[in-house]
Amino acid sequence: MQAPTLDAQKRRVEGGAPEDPSAMRGRCDIIRDMAEVQFPITVPRHCFQSEDARLKRIYEKVIAQERLDQSDALALYRTSDMLALGWLANHVRERMHGNVAYFNVNRHINYTNVCVAGCRLCAFGRKKGAPGSYTMSLEEAFKSAASGYTEAVTEFHIVGGLNPDLPLQYYLDLLSGLKERFPHVHLKAFTMVEIAFFAKLNKMSVRDVLLKLKAAGLDSMPGGGAEIFAKHVRAKICDNKIDGDEWLGVAREAHSLGIHSNATMLYGHIEGDEDRVDHLLKLRALQDETKGFQTFIGLSFHPEHTVLRHLPWTTGVLDLKQIAVARLVLDNFPHVKAYWQMLTPKIAQIALRFGADDIDGTVVEEKIYHDAGATTPQGLTRQDLIRLIEAAGRIPVERDTLYRPVTRSGSSVTVCV
Ligand code: SF4
Repeated sequence: MQAPTLDAQKRRVEGGAPEDPSAMRGRCDIIRDMAEVQFPITVPRHCFQSEDARLKRIYEKVIAQERLDQSDALALYRTSDMLALGWLANHVRERMHGNVAYFNVNRHINYTNVCVAGCRLCAFGRKKGAPGSYTMSLEEAFKSAASGYTEAVTEFHIVGGLNPDLPLQYYLDLLSGLKERFPHVHLKAFTMVEIAFFAKLNKMSVRDVLLKLKAAGLDSMPGGGAEIFAKHVRAKICDNKIDGDEWLGVAREAHSLGIHSNATMLYGHIEGDEDRVDHLLKLRALQDETKGFQTFIGLSFHPEHTVLRHLPWTTGVLDLKQIAVARLVLDNFPHVKAYWQMLTPKIAQIALRFGADDIDGTVVEEKIYHDAGATTPQGLTRQDLIRLIEAAGRIPVERDTLYRPVTRSGSSVTVCV
């Protein structure tokens, strides 16, 4: 049977009268079917070709769905055959997600940039009272949540600095206040580093902090602060931050409480290939244990305005390589994201053919990477994201934080559960 064309698949998603509940249910079913790869992909199948003997060996493993090991991962980082690497990652990506590419409509809230850690990698954190330092009052945070685009967001992404003047009650009130005002919006808040800081500051266990935050409305957690787990690198770029084992320990605790999270890796500074591989393998091992990670996000280092500003920016080749290696090594991670804010929308779009199945969201007002010199826009509209995905030959599917398809009708938003 001939596969439906990209346009035909898209028309099926767009069809149906939104006011009619049965039509809405039908659309949700169609989107879910597509997300579950009921439709064969329409892109042409090319034969794998490479002169790199190491990639040929890895090809056999990928086709047989065998797990890649440390030497395979190193070989992937060290190959110069980008098209063969992209082929392998794209093969896995399409096996998992077909032709669908996800995005969401979200808003970032960076509630404070006051931070005691002073990481050399950071252009966002400020000492208390330093020029440009700020801490939002709760009312300011609620106002920030409500401002921006008129499109109804499905997620608030909430992270900030390590501010010693904020009591735990501030975070509890922030979450419960947002839930009260925006009951349908998913609260993805606080990195493992912030959680560990709250616990230390308030002389509580990580578990008790997480339980209190969950009771106040915490739905899931982002994956920031992981940087690079390797001790010798961490000592030079963020020595005041929790170490890699502690980061993984907070993630383990969160997952044990049913709080899903993402995971990140900051690359393109002073780390080597071995350090990146070590980082990915540690994430994969924890995921085997907890299954609590949803998405891996590689964060390309932005040196401007940091202590490490003498370092060069990452290249497009490294950015695409990082996406592809992550997709191939992290075989137990459901999703790999091309975060357009850091990669640029153009590289993120190409990454949808190099292993990524997600391009992130509208964001609306990003501060952390823009303080580090990011030249990307601070936000994109829903239509911008759809255009980027369609131009890459993928089918855009709006998701909520938990990757459930979302449909819209005027100002109403329906999550297909
Ligand atoms: S990276 Fe995070 S913890 Fe480090 S200085 Fe910046 S805001 Fe603080």
